[in-house]
Formats: sequence, C-alpha cells, structure tokens
Amino acid sequence: MRFINIFIYFLFELKKIIAYLLIFLLVVGAIFYFYSESESLRQELTVSYRVRMDGNFVITYPYGLDDYAEAILQICSKASQGFKAIYRLSVQTSARISIYVSSNCSQLLLYTNYYQIYLNLTTDEDLLPPTMGGHHQIFGFCHEIGHMIFLVDNYDFNEGWATYSAAFRIVPYVYQSLGQNVWPQPYNYSEADGSDRYLKFVFENQTLCTPGSMYAATKLLYTIDQKCGQYGPLLLGDAIRTLEKNGSLKHGLGYPWYNLGEFKDTLTRQLASYFNDTTIESLFSEYGF
Ligand SMILES: [Zn+2]
Repeated sequence: MRFINIFIYFLFELKKIIAYLLIFLLVVGAIFYFYSESESLRQELTVSYRVRMDGNFVITYPYGLDDYAEAILQICSKASQGFKAIYRLSVQTSARISIYVSSNCSQLLLYTNYYQIYLNLTTDEDLLPPTMGGHHQIFGFCHEIGHMIFLVDNYDFNEGWATYSAAFRIVPYVYQSLGQNVWPQPYNYSEADGSDRYLKFVFENQTLCTPGSMYAATKLLYTIDQKCGQYGPLLLGDAIRTLEKNGSLKHGLGYPWYNLGEFKDTLTRQLASYFNDTTIESLFSEYGF
C-alpha cells in the first residue's frame, strides 16, 4: 500500500516536473529567438554606410563597396546624359540611389520610387557581372532611369519603355562613352546587357511578345525607333516633351505620369505630319496597346 502511495505521489510530481520542463524550454526558446533576431538587426544597424555624389546623383552604400558605388554613379550620370543626347529628355531633379546588402533580403531587387533607386542585394556577389555568374546591373540602372524620365498609366508599357530605351539606346551609349573598365570586373556590357540580348528576346522569342505584354511594348517602341531612321528616338522624345507641355498630368503618386492614349495620339499626329506615316495607330493595336 505504501509503495502504491509513493508511486501515485511520484506520478503527480512527474506531471509537475514535465510542466516545469516545458515552461523552461519555452522561455529559453523565446530568449534565443529574440536574441538572434536582435543580433541580426544589430549587425545590420552597425554596417556603416557611405555617401558619394556625382552631378544629379547621390549614392548611399555599405562600407567596402566604394568601387561599385563609383561605377554606378558614373553609369547613372552617363545614362542621364544619354537620355538628353538621344531623346532630348532630362531627369527632372536630383536622384538618390540606395544600395542595401543583407542576407535577410529574400531576393535581389532593383526598383524605382521615381527619384529614388533602391538596389537590395543578398550578397556582394550579386554585383558581379553576368559573365561571372552575377546580374545585369548596368542594364538595370539604365532601365530605372528610363522610368524616372517617362511614366504612363500602363505598367507593361512603362516596363517596355524602360527596357527598350535602356537596351537599345542607353546601354550602348554608356559603353561607347565609358568603355568596359568602368565596372570593377570589366566586361562588354553593351553585348551582355544591351541590344544583342534584347533583340533575341523580342524577335526570336515570339511567345514573350504576347499583345499587351512588356516585351510587346519593347518591340513596339523599337519598331517605331527603327521606322524613322536616325529620327526615331528624337521623334519619341519629341512626343514625350509635347505630352509634358500639353498632356493631362496625372496626380496622386507624387510625381508626373501621363495617359498612354494621349501619348499614342501625340505620336500618331507627329508621325503623320513629319513623315506622312499613318500606321502608328494600327501598330499600337497590333501590339495590344
Ligand atoms: Zn522597370
């Protein structure tokens, strides 16, 4: 009888011991979780950032990436000059570029919030050229400046504009002006990031160019560019400037953007009057815009 009592007492105590053990594990787990979270946040906050300027561009970047920051500044300045020289279009104000490197970034991301360009990297190696397993960063920055120059109320058309202008006009212009040594690991970015790559995308891969898609817009703008010989980019630039002067500006995003229909009408009128060309409207509808 005494033995049974001891056994029951032991079982009762065992329940308490297990409960205490679970509470202990829970508290240790919580402390470990919050410590590791705050440690990774602390590590990110203790990365020191540097700032450089060139012309209209200011870049903020983590310590140790000076060579890349210098290259990006030179490329953005030259790309901006390229838009002026080729299309007679300008970035309206000074622009900020932020480079952020963290293993917490789920993926490499380059995007523009109009006058700000953000490049989030998971590792410094994301800055290697595509020829060394990296990414098309030079094309990417020229593309983002294209967004700063001109925006309409159609997402895919905007992507097409930024892709067409960067790939076919601006990257080759930057390469001609700065050469391959501008990037810390020199490579021929005119070939790797520029028109050769995109001619393959838009002319050899028809499935990419479904009407209304970004590649359809890239191909449409490239076709208009090539249609008018040396005047192609000037004509596109002229239509955008006319829209800036006379078009109905849209508000609400904190920066100027326009109606795609008005851009199409402006371009149609200008091609008809300068080149007696009346095919633009049907070209736009063929590509789904
Ligand atoms: Zn884009």
